[in-house]
Amino acid sequence: MPLGRAHMLASSIIADARRAGIGADMISPVGSLRRFAPDVGDVALLGIVPASAHADLLRAFGRLPAVQASSRHTATSITVQTGRGIVTLHLAVQEHAGAALVWHTGSRAHTDQLSRRAADAGLRFADATLTDENAAHIPCLTETEFYGRLNLSFIAPELRNGTGEVEAAASGRLPQLIEERHIRGDLHTHTTWSDGQDTIADVVSASKQLGYDYVAITDHSESAWSSRKLARADVAKQRKEVDALRETVTGIEILHGIEVDIMPDGTLDFDDDLLRGFDIVLASLHDSGGHNGRRLTERYLKTIDHPLVNVITHPANRSPAQSAGYELDFDRLFTAAVETGTALEVDGAPGHLDLDGDIARQAAGAGVTLVIDSDCHRIESLARQMKFGVGTARRGWVEPRHVLNTRTTADVRAFVARKRSRG
Ligand SMILES: [Zn+2]
Ligand SMILES: [Zn+2]
Repeated sequence: MPLGRAHMLASSIIADARRAGIGADMISPVGSLRRFAPDVGDVALLGIVPASAHADLLRAFGRLPAVQASSRHTATSITVQTGRGIVTLHLAVQEHAGAALVWHTGSRAHTDQLSRRAADAGLRFADATLTDENAAHIPCLTETEFYGRLNLSFIAPELRNGTGEVEAAASGRLPQLIEERHIRGDLHTHTTWSDGQDTIADVVSASKQLGYDYVAITDHSESAWSSRKLARADVAKQRKEVDALRETVTGIEILHGIEVDIMPDGTLDFDDDLLRGFDIVLASLHDSGGHNGRRLTERYLKTIDHPLVNVITHPANRSPAQSAGYELDFDRLFTAAVETGTALEVDGAPGHLDLDGDIARQAAGAGVTLVIDSDCHRIESLARQMKFGVGTARRGWVEPRHVLNTRTTADVRAFVARKRSRG
């Protein structure tokens, strides 16, 4: 199940549980959903409640209106089938909450490493509890307390993939991860000028409500493989609308941008004169044109070299739970991006989540500037998709210093100006 659907299912069933009077304040998502994995197996939730209430709570959960059938039931868990997918609710008591959260959040690779570390310390970590050799439970009320028992600092859920995070926590080398509060603006949004559902004014006002300093309006160019797009002839009209809004809207800066398509021969859909008029230019491949990874890499390299292109959006063009995306030579793209001052995007739309965490980690390590965007087509997803983007970047150990849109509007404009002056 793609992250977006899993997230909606978890939120709706937690809301159902709350309406049904189940002690839902203590129920939260765990498993791959909490780790922001691009695709989620089954939705897992963890409830922290006194043991005396477990049986009643499981029974009540199995009777929620959304539940079509309950397939598995133990003393501390129940798995139910809903119209939108399978959900498992696990229960634990307060004194094991920390260990239970770590256990049920996973990943398996991460908890296996923790189990080995516990064994080395004469402890046992299994079945969502931490015990000493004589099987006496060691209370861990929080995850921080749990990791502390193993002489580790707290490891963020997005990092728990068994890819070096335990070693980093043991030696004080965990990254200072990016958080949503670091994001100062969204550089990728769509409006009714292309396939978005809301007007520029709506996108600007929703962005302002999120506390952003700036938002870039970046509709699709004329040849995009999209239901609606911005015609060349309409660019000037759109700019007039942006200019008029700038007169009336305060407290947020509007960047007039474009998501321009990369054509099969590696040229851009709009000519340079037209592109020069935008405050920021994002370039995208929406269609492989039947090319293999090598030729697509060449198309990207030509685009990255273009002085008017500032960001390559959703570079692998993958679709979680459906397609893995292009097989690109990322090392060459990273080198070119660093040399030319071009950013690569972590796109938060659930249909992209691209760059993927692993590749984002390699990119940041290579010195590439990243942007994290919502690629939003409706304002109610603006915050949600930015959250997914940030979660995906956190899976890639990304820090605020790696990300262009943690900086001021002036810094973003300078980033664009620097590349243009090079060309
Ligand atoms: Zn796109
Ligand atoms: Zn887009």
